[in-house]
Order: sequence, then C-alpha cells, then structure tokens
Amino acid sequence: MKFYSTNDTSIGTSFKQAVIESLPKDNGLYFPEEIPVSLSGLLSEITSLSLPEIGFQLLKPYCGQDIPDDKLREILEETFCFDIPLVKVQEGVHSLELTHGPTFAFKDVGARFLARCLSFFQEGEDEEVTILVATSGDTGGAVADGFFDIPGINVVVLYPSGKVSPLQELQIAGLGKNITALEVDGNFDDCQKMVKSAFLDDELRNRKKLSSANSINIARWLPQAIYYAVPFQNFGQDYQPVISVPSGNYGNVTAGILAKKSGLPIKRFIAGSNANDVVPRYLRTQEFDPKPTIPTISNAMDVSLPSNYVRLHALYGKNFQEITAEIEGYAMSDAGTRSVIIDCLAQSNYLLDPHSAIGFQSLVDGLKENESGVFLSTAHPCKFKEVIDEALGKEMEMPDFTDSVLTRKKRSIQIKNDYDEFKSFLMST
Ligand SMILES: *Cc1c(COP(=O)(O)O)cnc(C)c1O
Repeated sequence: MKFYSTNDTSIGTSFKQAVIESLPKDNGLYFPEEIPVSLSGLLSEITSLSLPEIGFQLLKPYCGQDIPDDKLREILEETFCFDIPLVKVQEGVHSLELTHGPTFAFKDVGARFLARCLSFFQEGEDEEVTILVATSGDTGGAVADGFFDIPGINVVVLYPSGKVSPLQELQIAGLGKNITALEVDGNFDDCQKMVKSAFLDDELRNRKKLSSANSINIARWLPQAIYYAVPFQNFGQDYQPVISVPSGNYGNVTAGILAKKSGLPIKRFIAGSNANDVVPRYLRTQEFDPKPTIPTISNAMDVSLPSNYVRLHALYGKNFQEITAEIEGYAMSDAGTRSVIIDCLAQSNYLLDPHSAIGFQSLVDGLKENESGVFLSTAHPCKFKEVIDEALGKEMEMPDFTDSVLTRKKRSIQIKNDYDEFKSFLMST
C-alpha cells in the first residue's frame, strides 16, 4: 500500500517512509491510496475475536510490506495491553472507555503503536532518533510513556510551565531515562512554535535525526480505527450504533470513519466540540472559518485549526453532501459541560471527564427515535480533577491506580520561551 499527500496525489510513499517522515514535505497529510473493506468478512465471528486480531486484519493492508506479520501481531498485542470496556450509562447509551491505558487517555493507543513501529524501523540503525513533542497536557504523557525505555529513541517533551495538571506533569516529567521534559516558560503555542522551528533548522537537522510523534503521523492515526470494533465485539454484527466522538484535531473521529469504510456497520457519527467549533460550523454552513483558539475546561480539544480536517475531505472525496450524511457536528460551552458532569453523576452515577461529557451529551441530544449509540470516553476524570472538583463543589478522591504516577519525582529542565536556548540544549545532548 502506498500513501499519498492530501496536497499531491502523485506522491507514493511507503508506510515506513510515511511514519518516519511524519509529514509530507508539501505540508499535506499522508493518506492511504485505498481503504480495503477488510473487516466485513470478520463480522459474523466478531464477538469471538480479540482486539489485536481485529487490528491485525484492519492494519495489515497498510503496513503489510514494511512490517512482517509476526511483528505486527506483537506490536498490536503490546499496544492493547489494557482493557477497553463498553459500559452502560443509561438506556441505549454506552461509554467506550478508552481510559484504562498507562496515561488514562485514548492517546495511549496511537502513541504505543507509533512507538513500536518507529522502534522496529530503528533496529540496526546506528544513529539514535530524537522525537520532539509539544504538548498542552495529554499528548506529551502518552508519547513519553509509549516510548519509555525503547532503545535507540530519545524523547524531548516541551510543556507549558504551570499549565498542565499535577498528574499530567508527572506523566511527562516523572519518567526520566530516555524521556526529557522541558518545562517552558510560555504557553502551548510557544512550545509548538519551538518544535516547528527545530524541524526547519538545517544546522540542527544535519546534526541530529529528528522525528515527530504528533497525531498527524499515520502510525498514530490508523490504529485508532481498531477500538471502534469493541461495540460489535460486545453486541455482534447486527448492532448499528451512532458513535459520538469528543473532537479537537479530528484524528479520532476520522479514524472512526475509516473503521466504518473498512466494514464496521456504524450508523453515523457525531463530532462534539467545545467553544472551538470550526468543524460544527463548517458542517452547518459549508464554510470553513477558523477563529482564534478559546481556552476551555476541555483543553485537549482547544484546537482552532484541526489538522485532520483535510483527512475528512480525503475520506469523502470532498463531497459535502456525503460528509454531512455521515457526520453531524455539535458544540458545547464550559457551563453546559459542567452541568452535564453534575447531572450524569446524579442520574446515572457515572463520572465523566470534561471531554467525555461533551461526547455523552452530543450523543444523547443527537439520537433519534429507535437509535442507540456509543460515546467515546477519551480521558479518565482523574486527569481533570481540578475541573471536576470545581464543578461538583467537592474534592474528588484519586483512584489507587494514580499512586504509581503521583509518587514519581518531577525531573524537568526549565527553559525560557527562547528558540536559541532550546536549540543549544538539543545541540549539546
Ligand atoms: C486529544 C484529545 C481529544 C481530541 O482528540 P482528536 O483526535 O484530536 O480529535 C479529546 N479528548 C481528550 C481527552 C484528548 O486527550
């Protein structure tokens, strides 16, 4: 299978090359030349298949030539090292809990898969590779954990000082070994700008092999399609759920659309946003009109220019009617999100994090008569303790499994919001 660039369909790159490069040079995104309907043949036996096995069938056509079958199976076993339960919240509404991984968020799936692919491609290479990641909180932890102790790979995470939760900070800065945490005196955009400058810096790139673990990488994007099979593992092939996905960069929901095109009988999608609602507005008006980013309590979705928007177009050949027939937008304020957290706990005894709250409510409001559905729980509420404490007016008790993170020692290196300081740090290591 070849991958082309959403800006240039004449490019044909291998899986390996696309993973290593992360982004095509023309600044588009890599996209597969075809989407085989590889899951339809499995549907009659899906309730007895494991997630790694379903994942193998789904991903084999994409990585077939570059990763031997045994290795792909091993990578998938290690990726799905945790449970992904489907939990009933109320009649006809289930939560797909992607929150039981090492960093308690769905990004663990993509990060673990990508880390293992890159590590496999690094085997036998003399030169170590340095992965640069800028994070507003969740991505950095998942990537750091996914790459922890993997030989031949160093990770440098840049995070904004004082702007991530204490738990998130220890997931980034509490690991050590091959993970370096740079605590930047600035905001997320400043971190991202420094990473971009590094990729454009020839002097640095001649000196160091740099790579990125951003969500635009196909090895982070594609494996996210796999867990959309969980509702069918539970309810069988006749289930036709509406699936609601709390969305920011639109990687997760576009991977869901790929899962549907691969044969899963998903009825349609709802994409929930916070105040950063550029895609819901587009789906209503057909006009793509980005506005400056607004900070919200569901901050992993504070994205004003979603990079996977171009993949939405690629999935539907830019046909607006087809897009809107399959995906509906929804947007929710912080006040609305807080009251959903309060009400869902009171009515269903189910605690939602601010992102999953948007997924839950967009599903409840979007379901039509005789429809049922699933919303993706994208993070465990304990990652957003401060927001939840404020919404509920009482202190949330942290679950025991957070102990192993909260007892880590923070090991960060503080740097100014200054590219030269960042660069000399990289050059000296
Ligand atoms: C990253 C993230 C999202 C948004 O996912 P996209 O793939 O960027 O749309 C939603 N919720 C949580 C908790 C996240 O960390």
